[in-house]
Order: sequence, then structure tokens, then C-alpha cells
Amino acid sequence: MTKVYLDSDATLSTLEGRTIAVIGYGSQGSAQAQNMRDSGLRVIVGLRPGGNSWQRAKKDGFEVYPISKAAEMGDVILLLIPDMVQPMVYKEAVEPNLDDGKTLDFAHGFNVHFKQITPPENVDVIMVAPKGPGLRVRETYLEGFGVPALIAVHQDYTGKAKETALSIAKALGCTRAGVLETTFKDETESDLIGEQTVLVGGLMELIKCGFDVLVEAGYPPELAYFEACNEAKLIMDLIYKSGLIGMLRAVSDTAKYGGLTVGPRVIDERVKENMRKVVKEVQSGKFAEEWIKEHKSGEKRLRELMEMTDSLEIERVGRTIRRMAGIEK
Ligand code: NAD
Ligand code: MG
Repeated sequence: MTKVYLDSDATLSTLEGRTIAVIGYGSQGSAQAQNMRDSGLRVIVGLRPGGNSWQRAKKDGFEVYPISKAAEMGDVILLLIPDMVQPMVYKEAVEPNLDDGKTLDFAHGFNVHFKQITPPENVDVIMVAPKGPGLRVRETYLEGFGVPALIAVHQDYTGKAKETALSIAKALGCTRAGVLETTFKDETESDLIGEQTVLVGGLMELIKCGFDVLVEAGYPPELAYFEACNEAKLIMDLIYKSGLIGMLRAVSDTAKYGGLTVGPRVIDERVKENMRKVVKEVQSGKFAEEWIKEHKSGEKRLRELMEMTDSLEIERVGRTIRRMAGIEK
């Protein structure tokens, strides 16, 4: 089994006396900056003057600077802005301030792995990727715990890159939950494959298909919504808490038998074959190339797909039901 790093495997001393510059104050930036500060470290925030985040970071009590100033002041620089924005901001404001021996930290390996950002040789390049949205990173920290995280070292100039990554993970609360070491390549590829085949892509399509088939068969859309979407959360909660077998033990025997015998007929070998193609497209860089191109040309296709999804019947019915049930205000 891969080694799991816990609180006792990490020390904050590598970061004491160093200034940590968090660039970006969104989901990860705001959570990570606050956790590290509450862990006793010196944290400053780098943002665009006049941007929405500026006031929020100020209100949360941070010293806020324009990005290049923060990068200049920071010994450890956390690049926590959207992945597609990172290369430009890096080039303009961060790279010119990467003095010898500084640390550049990412929360996702995309830009380094796909060579959109190539840092100079005389800095450490690391990743600390919490396995959870920023909100959870903050919430769990305040509860005295943390979310698990992945760490990786892309470049170890000082000989202390891994120690620094573990220190950051500790300051975020992640070593309380457990930290695994990986590589930029594995984190990036598995993250993309996971979100495309299972999490964002796979789940959404499964729910849509289930809903459509029920409606097509003449069942009321409201009922189809409950079956294909609403209850998916309850099932996932059970799996999250106690595994597949825990979920199976919690549902009725009819559901157990039907699920176990029919499930593999629905999600069959062809689905796996499709997923294997996705794996290849991610590994070859084909997907990254396509997405970077889409971003650079203004994300027209993404906008269209978002609008199309927003106008689906499952969305219309879903909004009504969620409001009725007090799930959505
Ligand atoms: P985000 O979309 O929440 O970041 C928004 C922030 O980035 C803004 O508040 C602003 O401060 C800054 N920003 C936006 N556009 C900018 C621009 N053009 N120039 C300068 N600054 C700009 O980002 P996020 O979701 O926190 O992602 C940050 C990193 O963390 C990414 O590498 C992402 O892959 C990684 N990550 C995110 C999550 C998550 O749950 N959101 C989880 C793990 C890792
Ligand atoms: Mg992801």
C-alpha cells in the first residue's frame, strides 16, 4: 500500500520565517490562505486590483497586493487561479519574480504536465492538491480535521521540495486526514479521466439517460426525477460512508438483486471500451490541446453546451422539485 503521510510525518518549520504568497482568492485560494494563516504562517494574497476577490481577502484580514508584488514578496508562491488563466498570469507576473530557491506550488498538475508553464530550473516546483472543493478544505479545518490531499514534486532544486509540500499539506490540515505522494502526470491524468468518465461526465449522462428513458416510457417527469436524480444522492451517500457492500446492505433485497444482476447489463463492456478511449485521449494530450484551443477561442462551445443543459426538461422539473422540497432556495 502507498505510504500515507500524517501529521507526525510533517513539520511546519520548513515554512516558518518564509512568506507565503497565495495568488487567487477563489475556491482553493481563500480556503488555503485562511488555513495556512490559522496554522500560524505568514500569508499574503496576490490579486488583480479592483477584482471581486480583493475586498473579500481584505475583509478576511489579509494583506493584499497586486499579483506581481505578492510574487516578489513571497518565498513560497501558491498559484490558485483557474487553470486556463494560469499560463498568462504566470508569464506576466510570477516568472519575473521567481528568484533562486523559491517554491512554486500548484493545486493541480495540468499546466506543468502539459507544458503550458515551464518554471526555471533554480526553483522548487511542487503540488499540494486537496481532494475536495475549497469549501470543504476550510470547513473540515475549522472542525479540527482536514480533507485528504495528494502531493508531488516536479522539480527539487533545494533538496527540500517534498518537505515543503508536506508542510503546506500540514498547514492546510490535510495531514490530519492523510496525504499520498504522486506525480504531476498521474494526478493530472487521473483527475481528468475521473471527472470525464465518472464524476462530471459519466454520472451526468447516466442520470440524463435514466430520466429520459423513464419519461419516454410514460412515467411523470417528477417521478422520473426522483428516481433517476434525487435518489442518486442517497445512494452515493451510502457508498461514500460504507462502500458498495455497505450500500447494498442498506437497500432492500429486491434492489440488491435487481441492481447486481441488471446493472452490468446497462453499464456493460462497451462503456468500459469508451472509457479506455478517454484514457488514451487524456494521456496523449489530445484532450488538453482541444480544451486549451476552446479556451483561447472564447469558449463558445462550452457556453453552448451549458445553455443546452440548462434548457433540458430534467432541469426544469428538477428546479421545481428542489424548491418544493426546500433543497434549493
Ligand atoms: P477559482 O475559479 O475559484 O479561482 C478564482 C480566483 O482566481 C478569483 O477569485 C481570482 O482571485 C482569480 N482569478 C480569476 N481570473 C483571473 C485572471 N484572469 N487573472 C488573475 N486572477 C484571476 O479557482 P479554483 O477552483 O480555486 O482553482 C484553483 C486551482 O486549484 C486550479 O489549479 C484547480 O485545478 C485547483 N483545484 C481546485 C479544486 C476545486 O475544488 N475548485 C480542487 C482541487 C484543485
Ligand atoms: Mg478535477
